[in-house]
Amino acid sequence: MDSFDPGKIVVRRGHFIGGRYVDEGTQRIDVARPSDGVVYATVPLADAAMIDRAVENSRAAFKTSGWASMAPRERAGILRRFADLVAADTETLAPLEALGSTRPVRDAFAWDVPFTAEGIRFYAEFADKIGGDVAATDHDHLGMTIAEPYGVIAAIAPWNFPLVMASWKIAPALAAGNAVVLKPSEMTPFSALRLAELAVAAGVPAGIFNVVQGDGRTTGDALVRHPRIGKVTFTGSTRTGAAIMAACAESGTKPVTLELGGKSPQLVFADAPRLDDVARRIAGAISGNAGQVCNAGSRLLVERSIADELTARIQQVFAELRAGATWRPDTTLAPIISEAQAARVEAIVERTIKHGATLCYGGKRMDGGMSGAFYSPTILADVTQQSEAVREEVFGPVLTVQTFDTDDEALELAQHADYGLAAGVHTADIGRALRFVRGIEAGTVWVNRYGRTSDFIIPTGGYKRSGIGKDLGRQAYEANLRFKSVLIDMRS
Ligand code: NAD
Repeated sequence: MDSFDPGKIVVRRGHFIGGRYVDEGTQRIDVARPSDGVVYATVPLADAAMIDRAVENSRAAFKTSGWASMAPRERAGILRRFADLVAADTETLAPLEALGSTRPVRDAFAWDVPFTAEGIRFYAEFADKIGGDVAATDHDHLGMTIAEPYGVIAAIAPWNFPLVMASWKIAPALAAGNAVVLKPSEMTPFSALRLAELAVAAGVPAGIFNVVQGDGRTTGDALVRHPRIGKVTFTGSTRTGAAIMAACAESGTKPVTLELGGKSPQLVFADAPRLDDVARRIAGAISGNAGQVCNAGSRLLVERSIADELTARIQQVFAELRAGATWRPDTTLAPIISEAQAARVEAIVERTIKHGATLCYGGKRMDGGMSGAFYSPTILADVTQQSEAVREEVFGPVLTVQTFDTDDEALELAQHADYGLAAGVHTADIGRALRFVRGIEAGTVWVNRYGRTSDFIIPTGGYKRSGIGKDLGRQAYEANLRFKSVLIDMRS
């Protein structure tokens, strides 16, 4: 299927607690389709009492279902089945994801759903790999660490890749034997419910994976602060991440993993091989999902001698993009998630121009053939490190361009005052590439490419205010475990 009728998609509403839908609560949230702004459903907002019910249900399942105590290979088998069910459900999940999010249906089919299934499979395989270590002690003692789950983990996800981001949280947590209460974004609440349904169908005990609906201020905050929560894992903005960290500190010094915002540079040197490919990469890394990507390559830093040529080629790629509804087969430029977010993007671009930037391309709303919010890919030149569009995470398809003459200048421009999520380095000189890999303060550096592959073993996560800890990789699995130290005296 490469297109669908949005009016024909049926969504299940409510929270998902103990293996069934719970559609209760007086307060409800309208859920709109970004493609045309139409409110197509509502979800209940979980208050503190509903959060208590969901977390206590998970806690009881953790204690009594045998999920944590079963043979790890058995747990792995259930999670592999879960991954299979997700993959087999693509025809349902992909349109559901595309309907209410900014993910064009072709991308949802080709990437979001397969990537979600494969990520779950990847962590299924971890379930029996890390149990702890035996320590080097004298022969009178046996010292060891035993890996144990935390209990109930609170997972909070953003709207920009609802399924994939949720799976990066739940898969390692479940594989490590935890129960999870997931709160998806209030703007994209539905695919997480389907995920939880499929988990139960695969044999994950009811209550081990619960989903609660609601906003950040009431629902998210109550979830994070619940005394039964053993750990919090969050993906979202730096501002919210800081609030969650404070809430974790105040409510029991809970450990926290934070995957936050970014302002990632793309450095292009004059010797970069195949400039056309580089232009496509740069354009793709800021126009994909309309720039609503934590890792968006939003700051182009280019050696002066090729700046005009590269910018011209990027513009050519931008000109090929087709804005449109997520349910159309030919959409290559996604809508902005909401009118408010589009207005924010517009305002940042306008203010940056007012303060001296030159608009080279775009800088305006687009007609996506729908009443949704579409914004043109945009290029801003003549900016400095102080320009708003260079400092702030715009979360829209806005690329700033700065030029450099020397490697030292390039490195200085690459470092952002606050963020350190990712960077791209495009050069034929391996020595230079490695110097930049070492020099750039970022959690990920891509060389002559930009973006992930399906090598889930490579973790992702930010330096500085881009986050704490990692998603994916062995690191994310270990972060869902706590390690008990045991020392046995063998003389008595
Ligand atoms: P957001 O911070 O507004 O919301 C994220 C989630 O947190 C939502 O579910 C929201 O309801 C919840 N929330 C809000 N306030 C809360 C509170 N006080 N307590 C508990 N929960 C609360 O972010 P968003 O707009 O949904 O997502 C976009 C942001 O996410 C961008 O900054 C982007 O860079 C970031 N992001 C980071 C990564 C990464 O891996 N580093 C990946 C995707 C998105």
